[in-house]
Amino acid sequence: MLAALLLLTLKADVWLQPGAAHPGDLVLITVDALTHAPTGRLGNEELTFLPAADHAHGVWQALVGLKVDQKPGVLALELSGRDEHGALHLGGTLDVLQPAFRHRELTVGAKFTSPSKKDQQHSARDQVAFNEAFDRDFEPFAFTHDFVWPRPPDLTAPFGDIRVLNGRKQSQHFGIDLDSEVGDPIWAANDGTVVMARDCFASGNTVLIHHGARLFTAYFHLSKFEVKQGQVVKAGQRIGLVGKTGRVTGPHLHWGVKIDGRWANPTSLLSMAFVAPPAAPVVAAPDLESMPPTVPDAGISDPSTSPDASRGTP
Ligand SMILES: [Zn+2]
Repeated sequence: MLAALLLLTLKADVWLQPGAAHPGDLVLITVDALTHAPTGRLGNEELTFLPAADHAHGVWQALVGLKVDQKPGVLALELSGRDEHGALHLGGTLDVLQPAFRHRELTVGAKFTSPSKKDQQHSARDQVAFNEAFDRDFEPFAFTHDFVWPRPPDLTAPFGDIRVLNGRKQSQHFGIDLDSEVGDPIWAANDGTVVMARDCFASGNTVLIHHGARLFTAYFHLSKFEVKQGQVVKAGQRIGLVGKTGRVTGPHLHWGVKIDGRWANPTSLLSMAFVAPPAAPVVAAPDLESMPPTVPDAGISDPSTSPDASRGTP
Protein backbone atom coordinates (compact mmCIF):
# COMPACT_ATOMS: atom_id res chain seq x y z
CA MET A 1 0.00 0.00 0.00
CA LEU A 2 2.95 2.32 0.38
CA ALA A 3 4.74 4.24 -2.31
CA ALA A 4 8.32 3.27 -2.74
CA LEU A 5 9.89 6.60 -3.56
CA LEU A 6 13.44 6.70 -4.80
CA LEU A 7 15.23 10.02 -4.67
CA LEU A 8 18.05 10.35 -7.14
CA THR A 9 19.18 13.68 -5.76
CA LEU A 10 19.27 15.27 -2.35
CA LYS A 11 18.76 18.79 -3.64
CA ALA A 12 15.09 18.66 -4.61
CA ASP A 13 12.34 16.52 -3.10
CA VAL A 14 9.22 15.02 -4.65
CA TRP A 15 5.96 14.11 -2.92
CA LEU A 16 3.25 11.82 -4.29
CA GLN A 17 -0.31 12.01 -2.95
CA PRO A 18 -1.65 9.45 -2.35
CA GLY A 19 1.19 6.95 -2.08
CA ALA A 20 -1.06 4.21 -3.44
CA ALA A 21 -4.06 4.97 -5.63
CA HIS A 22 -7.08 3.23 -7.14
CA PRO A 23 -7.99 3.49 -10.84
CA GLY A 24 -9.93 6.75 -11.30
CA ASP A 25 -8.14 8.53 -8.43
CA LEU A 26 -6.38 11.86 -8.73
CA VAL A 27 -2.65 11.95 -8.01
CA LEU A 28 -0.83 15.13 -6.97
CA ILE A 29 2.90 15.40 -7.57
CA THR A 30 4.74 18.18 -5.72
CA VAL A 31 8.40 19.05 -6.31
CA ASP A 32 10.40 21.71 -4.48
CA ALA A 33 13.70 23.57 -4.81
CA LEU A 34 13.58 23.88 -8.61
CA THR A 35 14.22 27.09 -10.51
CA HIS A 36 12.07 26.03 -13.48
CA ALA A 37 8.98 23.84 -13.93
CA PRO A 38 10.06 20.20 -14.31
CA THR A 39 8.88 17.96 -17.13
CA GLY A 40 8.22 14.25 -17.08
CA ARG A 41 5.65 11.51 -16.85
CA LEU A 42 3.82 9.15 -14.56
CA GLY A 43 3.51 5.86 -16.41
CA ASN A 44 2.46 6.94 -19.90
CA GLU A 45 0.90 10.21 -18.76
CA GLU A 46 2.72 13.41 -19.66
CA LEU A 47 2.73 15.77 -16.65
CA THR A 48 2.16 19.52 -16.78
CA PHE A 49 3.69 21.28 -13.78
CA LEU A 50 2.44 24.67 -12.58
CA PRO A 51 3.60 26.93 -9.76
CA ALA A 52 2.30 25.46 -6.48
CA ALA A 53 -1.24 26.31 -5.42
CA ASP A 54 0.05 28.16 -2.33
CA HIS A 55 2.65 30.07 -4.47
CA ALA A 56 5.54 28.73 -2.38
CA HIS A 57 8.84 29.74 -3.99
CA GLY A 58 10.47 27.06 -6.17
CA VAL A 59 7.61 24.58 -5.61
CA TRP A 60 5.77 23.00 -8.57
CA GLN A 61 2.71 20.80 -8.75
CA ALA A 62 1.11 18.52 -11.35
CA LEU A 63 -2.27 16.86 -11.00
CA VAL A 64 -3.14 13.77 -12.99
CA GLY A 65 -6.22 11.53 -13.05
CA LEU A 66 -5.64 7.80 -13.36
CA LYS A 67 -7.82 6.14 -16.00
CA VAL A 68 -10.73 4.11 -14.61
CA ASP A 69 -9.42 1.11 -16.53
CA GLN A 70 -5.83 1.64 -15.35
CA LYS A 71 -4.27 -1.79 -14.72
CA PRO A 72 -3.20 -2.44 -11.11
CA GLY A 73 0.56 -2.51 -10.64
CA VAL A 74 3.40 -0.04 -10.36
CA LEU A 75 3.71 3.21 -12.33
CA ALA A 76 7.10 4.87 -12.70
CA LEU A 77 7.48 8.59 -12.04
CA GLU A 78 10.29 10.16 -14.07
CA LEU A 79 11.03 13.89 -13.86
CA SER A 80 13.67 16.22 -15.26
CA GLY A 81 14.25 19.67 -13.85
CA ARG A 82 16.77 22.35 -12.97
CA ASP A 83 17.82 23.74 -9.64
CA GLU A 84 20.37 26.47 -8.95
CA HIS A 85 23.20 23.96 -9.53
CA GLY A 86 22.00 22.69 -12.91
CA ALA A 87 19.99 19.86 -14.46
CA LEU A 88 18.74 16.98 -12.33
CA HIS A 89 16.46 13.95 -12.45
CA LEU A 90 13.90 12.81 -9.92
CA GLY A 91 11.97 9.58 -9.79
CA GLY A 92 9.69 7.36 -7.79
CA THR A 93 6.88 4.84 -8.11
CA LEU A 94 3.13 4.81 -7.54
CA ASP A 95 1.29 1.63 -6.55
CA VAL A 96 -2.02 1.26 -8.41
CA LEU A 97 -4.44 -0.91 -6.41
CA GLN A 98 -7.28 -3.15 -7.59
CA PRO A 99 -10.44 -1.21 -8.51
CA ALA A 100 -13.51 -1.72 -6.32
CA PHE A 101 -16.27 -0.62 -8.71
CA ARG A 102 -19.71 -2.08 -8.05
CA HIS A 103 -22.31 -3.31 -10.54
CA ARG A 104 -25.80 -1.96 -10.05
CA GLU A 105 -29.20 -2.01 -11.77
CA LEU A 106 -31.22 1.20 -11.98
CA THR A 107 -34.62 2.15 -13.32
CA VAL A 108 -35.04 5.59 -14.93
CA GLY A 109 -37.76 7.25 -17.01
CA ALA A 110 -37.98 5.82 -20.56
CA LYS A 111 -37.27 9.29 -21.98
CA PHE A 112 -33.70 8.91 -20.75
CA THR A 113 -33.00 5.54 -22.42
CA SER A 114 -35.10 6.23 -25.54
CA PRO A 115 -35.02 10.03 -25.84
CA SER A 116 -37.27 11.84 -28.33
CA LYS A 117 -35.76 13.71 -31.26
CA LYS A 118 -36.20 16.98 -29.34
CA ASP A 119 -34.44 15.55 -26.28
CA GLN A 120 -31.63 14.17 -28.45
CA GLN A 121 -31.13 17.66 -29.92
CA HIS A 122 -31.11 19.14 -26.41
CA SER A 123 -28.51 16.55 -25.40
CA ALA A 124 -26.37 17.31 -28.47
CA ARG A 125 -26.42 21.05 -27.67
CA ASP A 126 -25.42 20.21 -24.07
CA GLN A 127 -22.44 18.26 -25.36
CA VAL A 128 -21.25 21.29 -27.36
CA ALA A 129 -21.65 23.48 -24.26
CA PHE A 130 -19.72 20.99 -22.08
CA ASN A 131 -16.92 20.81 -24.64
CA GLU A 132 -16.67 24.62 -24.73
CA ALA A 133 -16.72 24.87 -20.93
CA PHE A 134 -13.94 22.29 -20.60
CA ASP A 135 -11.79 23.92 -23.31
CA ARG A 136 -9.36 25.75 -21.00
CA ASP A 137 -5.60 26.13 -20.93
CA PHE A 138 -3.39 24.98 -18.07
CA GLU A 139 -4.02 28.25 -16.24
CA PRO A 140 -2.39 28.61 -12.79
CA PHE A 141 -4.19 27.04 -9.83
CA ALA A 142 -6.99 29.45 -8.90
CA PHE A 143 -7.07 28.41 -5.23
CA THR A 144 -4.66 28.64 -2.30
CA HIS A 145 -6.25 26.13 0.09
CA ASP A 146 -7.53 22.57 0.00
CA PHE A 147 -10.90 21.41 -1.35
CA VAL A 148 -14.03 21.20 0.82
CA TRP A 149 -17.24 19.14 0.56
CA PRO A 150 -20.02 20.86 -1.44
CA ARG A 151 -22.56 19.15 0.87
CA PRO A 152 -22.16 17.10 4.06
CA PRO A 153 -20.42 13.81 3.13
CA ASP A 154 -23.47 11.53 3.10
CA LEU A 155 -22.70 9.30 0.10
CA THR A 156 -25.46 7.30 -1.56
CA ALA A 157 -23.47 6.27 -4.63
CA PRO A 158 -19.67 6.20 -4.95
CA PHE A 159 -17.55 6.94 -8.00
CA GLY A 160 -17.25 4.27 -10.65
CA ASP A 161 -20.46 2.23 -10.19
CA ILE A 162 -21.08 0.30 -13.39
CA ARG A 163 -24.81 0.65 -14.03
CA VAL A 164 -27.33 -1.12 -16.15
CA LEU A 165 -30.23 1.25 -16.89
CA ASN A 166 -33.66 -0.36 -17.31
CA GLY A 167 -32.05 -3.73 -17.96
CA ARG A 168 -30.09 -2.70 -21.04
CA LYS A 169 -28.05 0.48 -21.43
CA GLN A 170 -24.79 0.36 -19.47
CA SER A 171 -23.00 3.40 -18.10
CA GLN A 172 -20.43 4.22 -15.45
CA HIS A 173 -21.02 6.69 -12.63
CA PHE A 174 -18.39 9.41 -13.03
CA GLY A 175 -19.08 11.28 -9.79
CA ILE A 176 -20.45 10.77 -6.30
CA ASP A 177 -24.03 11.24 -5.10
CA LEU A 178 -24.58 13.18 -1.91
CA ASP A 179 -27.89 12.64 -0.15
CA SER A 180 -29.84 15.90 0.16
CA GLU A 181 -33.32 17.36 -0.02
CA VAL A 182 -34.62 19.75 -2.64
CA GLY A 183 -33.65 23.28 -1.55
CA ASP A 184 -30.54 22.34 0.47
CA PRO A 185 -27.61 24.72 -0.23
CA ILE A 186 -24.66 23.69 -2.39
CA TRP A 187 -21.22 25.19 -1.72
CA ALA A 188 -18.33 25.73 -4.16
CA ALA A 189 -15.65 23.13 -3.37
CA ASN A 190 -12.90 25.72 -3.91
CA ASP A 191 -12.11 29.08 -5.50
CA GLY A 192 -12.60 29.29 -9.25
CA THR A 193 -14.63 30.62 -12.15
CA VAL A 194 -18.08 29.40 -13.17
CA VAL A 195 -17.72 28.17 -16.75
CA MET A 196 -21.25 26.75 -17.08
CA ALA A 197 -24.65 27.40 -15.48
CA ARG A 198 -27.03 25.61 -17.80
CA ASP A 199 -30.20 23.53 -18.03
CA CYS A 200 -29.00 20.21 -19.48
CA PHE A 201 -31.03 17.17 -20.52
CA ALA A 202 -29.33 14.43 -18.47
CA SER A 203 -27.50 16.41 -15.77
CA GLY A 204 -30.38 18.86 -15.25
CA ASN A 205 -29.46 22.30 -14.00
CA THR A 206 -25.66 22.12 -14.09
CA VAL A 207 -22.84 24.27 -12.68
CA LEU A 208 -19.22 23.77 -13.71
CA ILE A 209 -16.37 25.57 -11.93
CA HIS A 210 -12.84 25.82 -13.34
CA HIS A 211 -10.18 25.87 -10.60
CA GLY A 212 -7.22 26.40 -12.96
CA ALA A 213 -4.92 23.63 -14.19
CA ARG A 214 -7.77 22.17 -16.31
CA LEU A 215 -9.33 21.02 -13.03
CA PHE A 216 -13.13 21.34 -12.83
CA THR A 217 -15.84 20.52 -10.30
CA ALA A 218 -19.36 19.70 -11.56
CA TYR A 219 -22.67 20.08 -9.72
CA PHE A 220 -25.72 18.36 -11.29
CA HIS A 221 -29.53 18.31 -10.86
CA LEU A 222 -29.90 21.72 -9.13
CA SER A 223 -33.34 23.21 -8.46
CA LYS A 224 -31.94 26.75 -8.51
CA PHE A 225 -28.82 28.57 -9.71
CA GLU A 226 -27.22 31.18 -7.47
CA VAL A 227 -24.30 31.94 -9.80
CA LYS A 228 -23.89 32.96 -13.43
CA GLN A 229 -21.44 31.88 -16.10
CA GLY A 230 -18.23 33.91 -15.82
CA GLN A 231 -18.68 34.60 -12.11
CA VAL A 232 -15.66 34.20 -9.81
CA VAL A 233 -16.53 32.19 -6.70
CA LYS A 234 -14.83 31.43 -3.40
CA ALA A 235 -14.59 28.10 -1.54
CA GLY A 236 -17.71 27.53 0.53
CA GLN A 237 -19.76 30.12 -1.36
CA ARG A 238 -23.36 29.12 -2.12
CA ILE A 239 -23.75 28.39 -5.83
CA GLY A 240 -27.27 26.96 -5.92
CA LEU A 241 -29.81 24.63 -4.35
CA VAL A 242 -30.15 20.84 -4.51
CA GLY A 243 -32.86 19.55 -6.84
CA LYS A 244 -33.93 16.57 -8.93
CA THR A 245 -33.70 17.98 -12.46
CA GLY A 246 -32.47 15.83 -15.35
CA ARG A 247 -31.97 12.06 -15.23
CA VAL A 248 -32.49 11.24 -11.55
CA THR A 249 -34.49 8.88 -9.39
CA GLY A 250 -34.70 11.33 -6.47
CA PRO A 251 -33.24 14.56 -5.06
CA HIS A 252 -29.49 14.64 -4.39
CA LEU A 253 -26.32 16.42 -5.47
CA HIS A 254 -24.23 14.60 -8.07
CA TRP A 255 -20.72 15.98 -7.64
CA GLY A 256 -18.05 15.37 -10.25
CA VAL A 257 -14.39 16.25 -10.74
CA LYS A 258 -12.72 16.48 -14.13
CA ILE A 259 -9.00 16.85 -14.73
CA ASP A 260 -7.56 17.46 -18.18
CA GLY A 261 -10.51 15.85 -19.97
CA ARG A 262 -10.93 12.88 -17.61
CA TRP A 263 -13.52 12.35 -14.84
CA ALA A 264 -11.86 11.42 -11.54
CA ASN A 265 -12.96 10.26 -8.09
CA PRO A 266 -13.93 13.40 -6.09
CA THR A 267 -13.11 11.81 -2.73
CA SER A 268 -9.47 11.52 -3.81
CA LEU A 269 -9.39 15.30 -4.38
CA LEU A 270 -10.77 15.99 -0.90
CA SER A 271 -8.06 13.98 0.84
CA MET A 272 -5.27 15.87 -0.92
CA ALA A 273 -3.06 18.52 0.73
CA PHE A 274 -2.21 21.12 -1.92
CA VAL A 275 -0.90 23.48 0.67
CA ALA A 276 1.98 22.76 3.05
CA PRO A 277 2.96 19.30 1.86
CA PRO A 278 4.32 16.91 4.50
CA ALA A 279 7.48 18.05 6.27
CA ALA A 280 9.44 15.12 4.82
CA PRO A 281 9.22 13.66 1.33
CA VAL A 282 6.46 11.10 1.11
CA VAL A 283 8.08 7.72 1.35
CA ALA A 284 5.13 6.33 3.26
CA ALA A 285 2.15 8.25 1.92
CA PRO A 286 -1.22 8.50 3.67
CA ASP A 287 -2.82 5.06 3.66
CA LEU A 288 -6.23 5.03 1.95
CA GLU A 289 -7.61 3.04 4.87
CA SER A 290 -6.56 5.66 7.40
CA MET A 291 -8.67 8.42 5.84
CA PRO A 292 -10.81 10.33 8.32
CA PRO A 293 -14.08 8.53 9.11
CA THR A 294 -16.03 11.43 7.58
CA VAL A 295 -14.65 10.45 4.17
CA PRO A 296 -16.80 7.62 2.82
CA ASP A 297 -14.83 4.70 1.50
CA ALA A 298 -16.02 3.88 -1.98
CA GLY A 299 -14.81 0.33 -1.58
CA ILE A 300 -16.66 -0.40 1.65
CA SER A 301 -19.86 1.64 1.93
CA ASP A 302 -22.85 -0.11 0.45
CA PRO A 303 -25.73 2.28 -0.13
CA SER A 304 -27.88 -0.63 -1.27
CA THR A 305 -28.44 -1.40 2.41
CA SER A 306 -29.52 2.16 3.23
CA PRO A 307 -33.03 3.56 2.90
CA ASP A 308 -31.62 6.04 0.36
CA ALA A 309 -30.76 3.33 -2.13
CA SER A 310 -33.46 4.55 -4.48
CA ARG A 311 -31.71 7.85 -4.80
CA GLY A 312 -28.90 6.78 -7.07
CA THR A 313 -28.29 8.82 -10.15
CA PRO A 314 -27.50 7.55 -13.55
ZN1 LIG B 1 -24.54 10.71 -9.63
